[in-house]
Amino acid sequence: MPELIVPVQLPGLLDAVPLVWGPWDIAPVMSHVPFDCEHCAFDGQPALAMANSPEKRGRWMATRCRRCQATRVTTHQSDPPPFGSRVEVWSGPPQPYQSSEPEVTS
Ligand SMILES: [Zn+2]
Repeated sequence: MPELIVPVQLPGLLDAVPLVWGPWDIAPVMSHVPFDCEHCAFDGQPALAMANSPEKRGRWMATRCRRCQATRVTTHQSDPPPFGSRVEVWSGPPQPYQSSEPEVTS
């Protein structure tokens, strides 16, 4: 794994629900899922982190662009998949990046 994954401060509390985040990992290649970043058009796999809550059933997923660091957290609205729809519940803004160097390390 050549990338140094930059930690992003993920919300520890969302809508009064405490979240416990797992480690960042690089998303597996999923050919059916488009990964183009809406901010920087980086089309590599994003970094992913999952969270559970000790107080509420559910699963939260953070997706972070590995170039501009734009981050979004989604969860299922109500029912488990495939019935519930994913909703965005948090987002982090993109950071300055060098377009010639997609692997940001700091
Ligand atoms: Zn990006």
